[in-house]
Amino acid sequence: MALAHFCVSVRIEVFKMILVSSCLLGNKVKYSGGSNDNELIMRYSRYLTAICPESAGNLPIPRPPAELQNGDGREVLKGTAQVVNKFGGDVTAHFLLGAKKILDIVKKHKVQVAILKANSPSCGKDVIYDGSFSGNKIEGEGVTAALLKQNGVKVYSEKDLDEDTLQRIIAMYREE
Ligand code: SF4
Repeated sequence: MALAHFCVSVRIEVFKMILVSSCLLGNKVKYSGGSNDNELIMRYSRYLTAICPESAGNLPIPRPPAELQNGDGREVLKGTAQVVNKFGGDVTAHFLLGAKKILDIVKKHKVQVAILKANSPSCGKDVIYDGSFSGNKIEGEGVTAALLKQNGVKVYSEKDLDEDTLQRIIAMYREE
């Protein structure tokens, strides 16, 4: 009797999540009620998961602009710096809550990479506004960017991306 050989191929999908600042995808979540449309990122939106730390921290849209004072996001996480809006209101607790909620997503879905909006007090990865509300920028990290970096997430800003780089990130980390 001939033996039948059955070859069973099992494809194991690895679901990975790439986080991206929601405003870069054209969502109107900025403090002003606008967005930061990024044409390149928007073209690849099907691979990306939108997050907005400030919305996650229960801040309204629109809201007064906020900047970090007495340090950057790393100091905010340590409790030695604050996030203050342009009317002097302390919104540090909202920024910390939003950052924690994004970290919860990172842990739940084993996120390894995020593309975050440059210069933001939440999302900025290496430059932020200096706290004077005068448009001056300094080296530093936003609160969520700092927390994600401290938890092993590779953080890019939209300024780091050209199409080849974005395609490479998606190929490495993509969500099926
Ligand atoms: S920069 Fe970050 S916190 Fe600010 S609107 Fe965009 S996603 Fe939200």
